[in-house]
Amino acid sequence: MTETSMDQPIRRVVIAGGGTAGWMAAAAISRILGKHVQVTLVESEEIGTVGVGEATIPSLATFHRLLDIDERQFMAAAQGTIKLGISFEGWKTGQDRYIHSFGSTGKDHWSAGFQHFWLKGRERGLAGPYEDYCIELKAALADRFAHVNGQPLNYAYHLDAGLYAGFLRAFSQAHGGRRVEGRITEVLTDPDSGFITALRLERGEVIEGDLFIDCTGFRALLIGQTLGVGFEDWSHWLLNDRAIAMQTTAVRDAVPYTRAIAGKAGWQWRIPLQHRVGNGIVYSSAHLDDEQAKAEFLASVEGEVIKEPFPVRFRPGRRLRCWEKNCVAIGLSGSFIEPLESTTIHLIQRGIVNLLRSFPQVIRQVAIDEYNAQLDSELTHVRDFVVLHYHATERRDTPYWDYVANMPLPGTLQHRIDLFRETGTVFHVPGELFAENSWIQVMLGQGIVPRQRHPAPDLMGDAELGHFLGAIQRHVDEVTARLPAHMDYLRRYCPAAPPVRP
Ligand code: FAD
Repeated sequence: MTETSMDQPIRRVVIAGGGTAGWMAAAAISRILGKHVQVTLVESEEIGTVGVGEATIPSLATFHRLLDIDERQFMAAAQGTIKLGISFEGWKTGQDRYIHSFGSTGKDHWSAGFQHFWLKGRERGLAGPYEDYCIELKAALADRFAHVNGQPLNYAYHLDAGLYAGFLRAFSQAHGGRRVEGRITEVLTDPDSGFITALRLERGEVIEGDLFIDCTGFRALLIGQTLGVGFEDWSHWLLNDRAIAMQTTAVRDAVPYTRAIAGKAGWQWRIPLQHRVGNGIVYSSAHLDDEQAKAEFLASVEGEVIKEPFPVRFRPGRRLRCWEKNCVAIGLSGSFIEPLESTTIHLIQRGIVNLLRSFPQVIRQVAIDEYNAQLDSELTHVRDFVVLHYHATERRDTPYWDYVANMPLPGTLQHRIDLFRETGTVFHVPGELFAENSWIQVMLGQGIVPRQRHPAPDLMGDAELGHFLGAIQRHVDEVTARLPAHMDYLRRYCPAAPPVRP
């Protein structure tokens, strides 16, 4: 058995687990560093993957560009559709709807964000709804999409997670990545350094490595069970701990947005793909029992069942350190902030890109500390954004909504809410995932109305302000009207093969 220590050059990367996280890591490392390191991925078909995780955010396109993945090929392979945002239904009062879209809203002025001009326009009866000033949002509502030259839309994808993993597997193997099938029964460590030296498989094979990536999902076999890195629980802010997922046939053309429909003690998702729809309910087991959740869910799902409902249990929170010794946890083994806002695949990507950027010749603690600090700050930001959706609500119809509306918040989130409510201002810290427009759309959508605004719009008279707002609104309407229907466009751009039904 070889010994592994701080001074061991990194030549062999071993990835434990072949879900979305494992195959994204294998694809990226073999594509970027395949000539320098040998990549081996171990997965167990018998254990399988978590089987959910099909809505993404725009950063995935950047990841694909980094890897030179062709968008048409990927979308056709993963039955992909376009996602321009998320439709939040029933989150403020139970009867309302707003869209958190990608892209930007209106036009900022150097002195103040667009929302201040819109707030003044509203005071004077010169402004339409905030959503009228965003092309991606209006295109989502109109069910339209195309790649537009000059002013491209900001978009993400809906994808079939199993097909996506298969696509990345072929990509990784084409770049020299090796796949080993088998159940890991033991993780071997060096008695002096505590570093991981190898994985032992059920049939006896031993896979040695220098750097190990834990992509074993909620099991966290390496980072948690072997290295004993603790987990910070966030369930006092994020109550949901269970989900039931189910796949159905599509009863209409796919819309270019995810639906997030609030319920009595959680919410349901609808993710439309080219060949089917992914559905799920996410709920708090302390507020809704499994049978009630299943009944509420099945009563509202459309289409014929393709894959029977299957349960998923989870615990929101993060690993205290995602990189420990020579092991990096990526995916569900590292953190999970519940599926609202579809951030996990993005966080997987951040973990991979940060690792590639700081890829060590030999491991140094200072690099580990920097990696962990960067990821921590990204996770905290995403957590705050997700918690916002629950807390900023007028709903008090069940004990669940009553609790989330009154719970004490993380200080970082309380500050953002107070700042917007008192001044209409938001801020973006470089590196944070959600920019100003996202915070504003969600805060307004959830019913937080600023008490003040910036004085800059007062420099405009009513006529000038009306002209400014009207011109943006007309431009948004004109661009939207020129776009084709979303699925008409995809049938030409990236038609997927017809589904194979068992
Ligand atoms: P898994 O998919 O669980 O993969 C773990 C891998 O490890 C598997 O290959 C398994 O076989 C292997 N493994 C485990 N133990 C062993 C062993 N002993 N030996 C060998 N192999 C082993 N994310 C989004 O970005 N968008 C979404 O819309 C979204 N929705 C979600 C909805 C729900 C209800 C949940 C729970 C999560 C959702 N996520 C979403 C998160 C998403 O599912 C994950 O980001 C993604 O699937 C990655 O999972 P993973 O690869 O870390 O783990």
